[in-house]
Amino acid sequence: MYSSFFKLFTTSIIVLMFFSCSLLFISSDNFENTENVNIDSNNFYWPLPDNKRITSYFGKRKSPTKGSSSNHSGLDIAASEGTQIHACFSGTVTFTGFKGAGGYTLTIKNGNISASYCHISPNFLFKVGDFVLQSNVIANVGPKNVYGVLNNPYKDSSGKPTNGATTGSHLHLTIKKDGIAVNPLDYF
Ligand SMILES: [Zn+2]
Repeated sequence: MYSSFFKLFTTSIIVLMFFSCSLLFISSDNFENTENVNIDSNNFYWPLPDNKRITSYFGKRKSPTKGSSSNHSGLDIAASEGTQIHACFSGTVTFTGFKGAGGYTLTIKNGNISASYCHISPNFLFKVGDFVLQSNVIANVGPKNVYGVLNNPYKDSSGKPTNGATTGSHLHLTIKKDGIAVNPLDYF
């Protein structure tokens, strides 16, 4: 009597474990699906909720600094050093590091859309391969000057090395669709 009860008990435990495992698989499948959700829409989250002032728009412009582009690849949004940057959309981190004129940069990709957040703090909060959710804090606005970057060609008027081609702390946001820079304002 006791042993058959024990058998039933262990069988139920095994069945329960099996079901909870399959539940885990089902939820990770759903998670995969959210990664591939179609984000080609105007539902992007503004990366700096308290900073709406755009200091340079996408497209043709007069280069503000030596080494910065006359065909601006993104948007410049005014923000002081340390301001929290939020993810415009969910996706996978595909790059963290110093990237030429963009300085310290974090790139998030989802399907054929990518967002690069430039001139950010070198203290990265995420690493390549991490999945981040829309509106979550992903980085902080970086300082104007950075030190210790090998062969950094960008300098300010006093000769101090800068966080890419920049005249002061701000966020530069590049949105690419199929690898080509597009106007970020079309997505908000
Ligand atoms: Zn810019």
